[in-house]
Amino acid sequence: METKQFKAESKRLLDMMINSIYTHREIFLRELISNASDAIDKLYYKALSDDSLSFDKDSYYIKVEVDKENRALKITDTGIGMSKDELENNLGTIAKSGSLAFKNENELKDGHEIIGQFGVGFYAAFMVADVVTVISKSLGSEDAYKWESMGADGYTIVPSEKDSVGTEIILKIKENTEEENYDEYLDEYRLKGIIKKYSDFIRYPIKMDVIKRRLKEGSENEYEENQEEQIINSMVPIWRKNKSELTPEDYNNFYAEKRYGFDEPIKHIHISVDGAVRYNAILYIPEKIPFDYYSQEYEKGLELYSNGVLIMNKCSDLLPDYFSFVKGMVDSEDLSLNISREMLQHDRQLKLIAKNINKKIKSELENLLKNEREKYEEFYKSFGRQLKYGVYSDYGMHKEELQGLLMFYSSKEKKMVSFDEYVSRMPEEQKYIYYASGESYDRIDKLPQTELVSEKGYEILYFTDEIDEFAIRMLMTYKDKEFKSVSSGDLGIEADEKQNDTASEVTENKDLFEYMKGILSDKVKDVRVSKRLKSHPVCLTTDGEVTIEMEKILKAMPG
Ligand code: ADP
Ligand code: MG
Repeated sequence: METKQFKAESKRLLDMMINSIYTHREIFLRELISNASDAIDKLYYKALSDDSLSFDKDSYYIKVEVDKENRALKITDTGIGMSKDELENNLGTIAKSGSLAFKNENELKDGHEIIGQFGVGFYAAFMVADVVTVISKSLGSEDAYKWESMGADGYTIVPSEKDSVGTEIILKIKENTEEENYDEYLDEYRLKGIIKKYSDFIRYPIKMDVIKRRLKEGSENEYEENQEEQIINSMVPIWRKNKSELTPEDYNNFYAEKRYGFDEPIKHIHISVDGAVRYNAILYIPEKIPFDYYSQEYEKGLELYSNGVLIMNKCSDLLPDYFSFVKGMVDSEDLSLNISREMLQHDRQLKLIAKNINKKIKSELENLLKNEREKYEEFYKSFGRQLKYGVYSDYGMHKEELQGLLMFYSSKEKKMVSFDEYVSRMPEEQKYIYYASGESYDRIDKLPQTELVSEKGYEILYFTDEIDEFAIRMLMTYKDKEFKSVSSGDLGIEADEKQNDTASEVTENKDLFEYMKGILSDKVKDVRVSKRLKSHPVCLTTDGEVTIEMEKILKAMPG
């Protein structure tokens, strides 16, 4: 029997996986159960398109069994199983997801809800087990095979015996060490808790044998113990549950289970609407930017279910671009199951839902800004730029909606402030909302152009993001106050400063200015006496609408 080696990168990945990806060991069970559920879903999917297969939902299940004596934990499913090749390909290469390939090949159409797609979950088993054995019989095959591995050293595959189609995974649970207790993964009560916590909404029954103690018939004090098969999960999806039954942890678990992200969401939004259009939705505002967020690959969208059955993985029509960071799902009984993607786009109900959701997200963000400032700032660090793009894009169509959510660093407060806060602090005589652009707060602090405005006691908003000035140009005003760059020609406050000396300064220095202009002829348009400088000898200003910072960006743009 030949021991095959994991691919080199697999070895490294496996190590990383076992030691660092997951913070909680207990999630190995969630991973194996979600694979089992995927496998049953695949069978269900095949049955939909193949009349010779019947799918009787009731005869499909996942079973978790403990054999304490042999330190074995067994997870059995009645799913589609794996052939020899599949065992090799799907379990022999880490980060290769058979489920993702299945999804791509069978272009998601009808009801199934396949969770897997990253190809790493299975290996979580090695966090608790020394040996992992997989015995599987694939649909349509007479032969069963056994895959076995002790971790990074590789795996073996040999012919085996199995009566029915499906998969059996046997974990040889590690011995306790001084620091770590592994016995808990052989404890029925503990396992039940883990299943409840992470896999409660799995749509197939997860069964366990539990010992029931009962009074012996006819006896008052004699008990008998019986093994009884019990279904552990409620099979009710979380979005159908009452908000009052759910804890923040439930929502976080769902987020992790669904792989919406690897962070902990900043906020969840649970919507149940029973009006003109009926739907349930669970939405999340992530904390961290997904690694591909600002790339072409990133696909926005929410999972769309029709009456509990997944019909689309990423329904992009449900989210505007400026909220593309929102994750989650929508389930509506008012959507027909067989609508094609094209038809979906015109679905009136869907449009209503999208509008509704959009409003809700906006108001939740506003609440966050108002009531949970720190969280909002955390969120804004990650996704503020997207909101600013939102203000700028579509010719400013959404600016009214979004402007209240923007924040910028304030020269005076030394922290992020909203426009509302800025405006509420403006002295009566202040005409404009001032801003200054630069690479960093430090750099802007040192800009000579900020001197006069700061000295006046006015607050300046610092723009360090390329998009900032473009977004502000689109807004033009906030609550009737115009935005003004500190480097624009007219600051609206110079008039009362130094007014008298200017004329004489101009004549006195005429020759000097002419000389400077001559030297800088290709770099500046004019050299003038400035009324805005305090301690700096010189500064640059712009004439028209485009500021120096914008000019830099425009020049750097391709084409
Ligand atoms: P993912 O679920 O993200 O695809 P996993 O590492 O959890 O990645 O699993 C890898 C692959 O192994 C799955 O995509 C699937 O093809 C296969 N697999 C794992 N467990 C089972 C199972 N119980 N029944 C059938 N196939 C399975
Ligand atoms: Mg998986």
